[in-house]
Amino acid sequence: MNNMIYSWQKQQWDQLLHMQQAKRLPHALLLYGPQGTGKRVFARSLAGSLLCQQTVEDGSACGQCSQCRLVAAGTHPDLSVLVPTPPKDSRSKKPVLHIRIDAIRELGSKLATTSQMQGYRVAIIETADRLVMQAANALLKRLEEPGADTLIILVTSNPHRLPITARSRCQSIRFNSPGKAEALAWLGSQGIKKAELALNLAHGAPLVAARYEDEYLQNRELLSNALLAATRGESSLSYAQKLTGLPKDGGLAWLLDWTGDLVRLKHGEQGEGLVNEDFRESLQKLAKKADVTRIFAFYDLVCRTIRQEGIALNPQLLWENLLISWDNL
Ligand SMILES: [Zn+2]
Repeated sequence: MNNMIYSWQKQQWDQLLHMQQAKRLPHALLLYGPQGTGKRVFARSLAGSLLCQQTVEDGSACGQCSQCRLVAAGTHPDLSVLVPTPPKDSRSKKPVLHIRIDAIRELGSKLATTSQMQGYRVAIIETADRLVMQAANALLKRLEEPGADTLIILVTSNPHRLPITARSRCQSIRFNSPGKAEALAWLGSQGIKKAELALNLAHGAPLVAARYEDEYLQNRELLSNALLAATRGESSLSYAQKLTGLPKDGGLAWLLDWTGDLVRLKHGEQGEGLVNEDFRESLQKLAKKADVTRIFAFYDLVCRTIRQEGIALNPQLLWENLLISWDNL
């Protein structure tokens, strides 16, 4: 994985390669854009390229030399990768993940020493929007005076959550989702069967779509059966128990997508644009009889339920509560 980028990242790759060849590579980069477009892979590939002793023609790492082997093993002394972690003494099952000041201090002292291999020193800070304030402040100093041959790469899908002081010290590089045809071609090459549906559900992000395999699609069928019960003259309530089997992070987020689709149809959306495009006809039936105020109230209810998810709620009660409201839209 150290010597690849995705086909839709070529422009960004070439841009950085030219900078590096002209010795104009900045000391700090901010890679941002929607989730699931491959920013982290890109950051690692860039790091691999800077550390490799004999890069190949397109500038990517050779994957063979001693440096590349250290990178692949995760033991290269001049490559640091920071990711958000739970608090040390946390016993919570769903701890809040942050990048804390100790991690930035440790990184700082590592970057303050000379390169172990007489080459570049690279630090990747993944999900950089999870930096706590003190850590972001400590990082500022590094971003201002990183030292020679040092590159700090911040990666985030939420750049607005980073302090402007940190953002302004980085050169920002934007990553977009690829066009539909390119995304579908890539998903096909990964052996994803229902690629078009998966891509729709993933809001166009190919790496998210790639995770939507069979089990996901079965779960989705479970949910759609329940939500479309009314179109068959049934009540959705009888499905509550089945829905307790849905994955926690998935089920409620999908329900939000379905509700969003109803809103879109209420606003008379034509053509493309529904997340659940394959259920357009049934959704239209539901939208026709639903009241727009109640749809918005339901949307709020789902959002509140998602926020409360950390609290131990009985899943069956949770779904019964939601389905009663859904049937009354
Ligand atoms: Zn190499």
